[in-house]
Amino acid sequence: MTENGFMDLEENKRPAAFLDRDGVLIQDLGYVYRTDDLHILPGVVEGLRFLHDKGYLLIVISNQSGVARGLFTSEDVDLFHRELQHQILASLGFGLDGIYYCPHHPEGRVPHLAIECNCRKPGLGLLEDAGRDFSIDWSRSFLVGDKDSDVTCAHKASLIGIQVTSGQYEAHCSPDFEISSLADLQNIWSEIERKMIAFGAEPLTSSDVP
Ligand SMILES: [Mg+2]
Ligand SMILES: [Zn+2]
Repeated sequence: MTENGFMDLEENKRPAAFLDRDGVLIQDLGYVYRTDDLHILPGVVEGLRFLHDKGYLLIVISNQSGVARGLFTSEDVDLFHRELQHQILASLGFGLDGIYYCPHHPEGRVPHLAIECNCRKPGLGLLEDAGRDFSIDWSRSFLVGDKDSDVTCAHKASLIGIQVTSGQYEAHCSPDFEISSLADLQNIWSEIERKMIAFGAEPLTSSDVP
């Protein structure tokens, strides 16, 4: 509540950790869609618990052009994501808050999905979708990905971009931070916070953390 007794909408906002899926949460085996191929990466459980304890929304944003390419269907993706949620819930006791993916690709084979869209990263459509569904404190949100397109997406949205560089891709486009697994976030958290404050976020007090 504010001094005048009105509910302050700002208070209800939560920061979001936008997380790429393949190469950040799970092993990137290339167009993964079979639940047998779902392997959560080392450090993910620790990293998610850390972010959850900090009050972060956990929101996956993922390019899944395999749908447009006709390699698998959106039903396959949904099934895969249900299994991902199930496994995270089983090991952590909480799930991901949202999973958004882009099924498009301009060179796809499925006609209605073979388009230039706004949601394929580095496009901002998935972030915008999440912004409609959640009340997000953007000043404290950030994005973790393993590709340049993730970091570019973060920077286009004026978010801190963190790159997981242990995988198959190297950083070429100046991520704000490089980590080798999601668990590393806790080691560099004070640096991340310092950068958020430098970008204009209000310093947190302990009472802000739910
Ligand atoms: Mg990736
Ligand atoms: Zn798209």
